[in-house]
Amino acid sequence: MAWAAHRRGWSLTIVDRVDLQSSSHVAAGLVTPITGSRSAATWRWDYFFEFATKHYTDIETRTESSFWYLQPAIRLFGSSQERERAIERWSQPRTELEHKVRPQISLCSPDELSGFHAPFGGCRMEPAARLDTTTYLHSTRKFFQKQGEFFATEVNIAEQLPLPDQAGSYPFELEIATRSIRPDAIVFCQGFDARSNEWFSSLPLHPARGDILTLRLEGEATAIYADLPSLARTHVVHSDAWIVPTNGKHLVGATYDRHHLNGQVDGEEFAANNRQILLERLNNMFPTIGIDRWNLEQHRAAVRPASYDRHPLIGRHRWVSNAYTLNGLGSKGSLMAPLLAEQVCDCIETGQSADPFLDWQRRDKSL
Ligand SMILES: Cc1cc2nc3c(=O)[nH]c(=O)nc-3n(C[C@H](O)[C@H](O)[C@H](O)COP(=O)(O)OP(=O)(O)OC[C@H]3O[C@@H](n4cnc5c(N)ncnc54)[C@H](O)[C@@H]3O)c2cc1C
Repeated sequence: MAWAAHRRGWSLTIVDRVDLQSSSHVAAGLVTPITGSRSAATWRWDYFFEFATKHYTDIETRTESSFWYLQPAIRLFGSSQERERAIERWSQPRTELEHKVRPQISLCSPDELSGFHAPFGGCRMEPAARLDTTTYLHSTRKFFQKQGEFFATEVNIAEQLPLPDQAGSYPFELEIATRSIRPDAIVFCQGFDARSNEWFSSLPLHPARGDILTLRLEGEATAIYADLPSLARTHVVHSDAWIVPTNGKHLVGATYDRHHLNGQVDGEEFAANNRQILLERLNNMFPTIGIDRWNLEQHRAAVRPASYDRHPLIGRHRWVSNAYTLNGLGSKGSLMAPLLAEQVCDCIETGQSADPFLDWQRRDKSL
């Protein structure tokens, strides 16, 4: 959101408590063109992916850092039907008229998949990418701190920004770090925390906790691993779980837990269960190493701000015409956030409503 406003030359104030356990910090940042056992294309893939690539590469240049990695992702098929469906839908080469980001697959050879349990084979999906969210957020924060536009603090919304009951444009006034700020518009990008903000507490969020493990191999297991074909060591692989090889470690995720909406990982039975679920999924898809040989370096969890229909939730407040939200990113924040932020800026600039399929009030309008 900050980058979209900055690109338009707007002056801005970003207020974030910098929670290293936020959904964005915990996320693996995977951006995948084809999802689910029906091999469906990710919703509005072409539209979001092209813009995301343009956005992240532009910010890499501006901040002189690297966080957007374009690389095919590997998918292990769960059944012969899934394999056939994927081949039928996505294995034809793109025609000249087709968009260059249209998803495509190519089958992996059995050799490339050695080490994995892949009775139905697997494929490369492309284009695909991974956003290193920690580096992206860090570089972004540094940039806006230099601009004097970033404030690492908590806003007590009920006290500092009480919701008016009168309709119209609201004269906001906010004290941040001894400065008095009078913005023309406010955009709440709070993820799951929006639930306790009365401005947008009626957002139709259907959140889900996600757990993610950082694992490391040691000793003999490192040698077994080093002997595997490079695909297993270098690519993101999706099956019941996903594995992301990164700097000699592996990220494994993610659970989808709608019952425990917090980021706790210690001393709770449900957290231990979620950990075990991920280790077992990893073992099922990658049995060569053996479950006991993976050393757990870190277990993290956060709550994804998902929506009921799995589409984002953006747009204007019901009666305050200069208050907006960007939320409902679910498990697709890395892909969708850049273009959605542009749309929120368009709404602010033109006074028009959000795209009806993205508008957070779409259910009220019976779309
Ligand atoms: C385990 C896991 C794996 C995931 N994997 C992926 C993936 O592979 N790919 C993908 O695209 N997405 C993934 N996601 C989802 C992704 O994290 C979300 O889509 C996205 O990050 C949500 O971003 P957000 O900015 O809406 O919310 P958040 O990241 O929760 O950010 C909200 C921010 O608002 C701040 N805030 C809230 N209230 C206040 C206040 N009153 N004052 C100050 N600051 C406040 C918070 O501190 C926080 O920094 C994953 C999520 C999890 C949990």
